[in-house]
Amino acid sequence: MTMHEERCTVHDLDELQDWQRELRAQFPIVTGSPDLAYLDSAATSQKPRAVLDTVQRYLTTANANAGRGTYTWANATTALVERTRARVARFLGDPAPLERSGVHFTSGATEGLRAVARDWLPHHLRDGDEIVVPFADHQANALPWLEARDLLAQRGVRITVRELPYEAASHDYDPAALADLVTERTAFLAATHVHHVYGADMNVHRLRAAVGPRVPICLDAAQSVGHLPVDLGALDVDFLVFSGHKAMALPGTGAVWARNARGPGFRPGGWSGTPNTCGIASLEAALDWLDAAGPDRIRRWATALAARLTDGLYGAEAYEVLGCQESLAPDSAVQRREGIVTFRHRRISSNDLGFVLASHGLMVRADGHCQGRAGESESSVRVSLHVYNTPEEIDRLLAVLLTL
Ligand code: PMP
Repeated sequence: MTMHEERCTVHDLDELQDWQRELRAQFPIVTGSPDLAYLDSAATSQKPRAVLDTVQRYLTTANANAGRGTYTWANATTALVERTRARVARFLGDPAPLERSGVHFTSGATEGLRAVARDWLPHHLRDGDEIVVPFADHQANALPWLEARDLLAQRGVRITVRELPYEAASHDYDPAALADLVTERTAFLAATHVHHVYGADMNVHRLRAAVGPRVPICLDAAQSVGHLPVDLGALDVDFLVFSGHKAMALPGTGAVWARNARGPGFRPGGWSGTPNTCGIASLEAALDWLDAAGPDRIRRWATALAARLTDGLYGAEAYEVLGCQESLAPDSAVQRREGIVTFRHRRISSNDLGFVLASHGLMVRADGHCQGRAGESESSVRVSLHVYNTPEEIDRLLAVLLTL
């Protein structure tokens, strides 16, 4: 369990309110439906006007295929793709942008993690190696590694998949238990930056010391990129995978950043075909927008909204809030949830609760949240927040929840 260095509190909502109001006004889908509250940004984010305008401009002034032309539009598209690779590296704080590292575009985090599992991992592992993966995180960060194991087994290469250990109380990783698990055959570690159900920052900066300097680390940053500052200079990881569509870009966008410093270089295999040029244009615009808005302020806002919700549910007998319990006390010094709060009603099924909330215009996610095999076995309701959400939306949600 980690104490917050600079603790986000509900007071951030007062301090940031003018800044937030101006940003919220830039989301046409949000301002166009004032009776609805979109509370499912962990699934995908809404898009600011700057991103929508960029896509429209691209399609009406420069749409062509990339990498194959001699004419202006094709060259502009090729330049866009290359510029966006560099933009991704810069956004993530790549310490030596694209000198040795690389950025590969994907349709989202799932495809990114599968690309690492399919195109890099099998070339790196030897018979008898071990890999460590998180079975209580999103299954997109578990299944691809099991598929890689099975693929290798067909070729006679047997590897062992070990479970990344968690601290029971906080659901955070347990670096001491991880260090005990590491042997000279440990060849890879997969981890998650922010948990998509518990909203916990998984303190992944502690993992490098636990595994030592040799083991490649792949980080699933689907719930952190676009939500909080991400700094590759500080995170000594080898792959960082994220969803562009959760970070204000169009659906069907995402990327893998590869450091290319431990093991073979990452070369995505197969025929690449035509890239998602519109999606890439949207990603460049989205990263510009996020940098201008300020990832640190976005984090403070979403965390403060989540704290308003957990404070409101604190002591409500009918609800069980999932994840670290110690952080729920309004005066706790333990880190609070990063804009994601998941709970169950003790008597009403989560599915029914989802329908009740929808009938009040409150759009939440009610299901099992694709957790891996060590995750929650029962459904729950997840509220996930972004910069366009407001304290009034949280109060509306609480007003319904607390009457049930
Ligand atoms: N990892 C995490 C932590 C996620 O929350 C999600 C999306 N819910 C994914 C991976 C999969 O991302 P995508 O939808 O971009 O494939």
